[in-house]
Amino acid sequence: MECLFCSIAAGEIPSEIFHEDEFCVAFNDINPQGPVHFLVIPKKHISSIADITEADQEILGHMLKLIAILANDKGLNENGYRVVSNVGKDGQQTVPHLHFHVIGGRSMTWPPG
Ligand code: AMP
Ligand code: ZN
Repeated sequence: MECLFCSIAAGEIPSEIFHEDEFCVAFNDINPQGPVHFLVIPKKHISSIADITEADQEILGHMLKLIAILANDKGLNENGYRVVSNVGKDGQQTVPHLHFHVIGGRSMTWPPG
């Protein structure tokens, strides 16, 4: 099965990747919802938060720490930012490969739609 984000992680589809390491890749969202909007994805195909297993804990811990580092690199630490991971149909997940949205550079609203 073709997976868009597996293809991006493998460099088979062009994207604005600005970080890559052993476990994950970070790239700018193609349809940004704020002045800064990037996605952090595992290189391993995991469909969503609902499919994380015990074996994935190292990857997930790494990804969350990385989000803080990359957000800081992009100047978001002073005013903050939002981290979102949509799951399934009601969560409005459109790409079935786990990803964290990191959105910042503007004041968010709550609750989300
Ligand atoms: P979600 O709807 O939570 O599954 O998020 C999927 C995100 O992937 C959306 O914000 C899209 O704009 C983004 N997206 C889809 N295709 C690409 C692509 N080729 N490069 C970068 N971001 C993409
Ligand atoms: Zn995938």
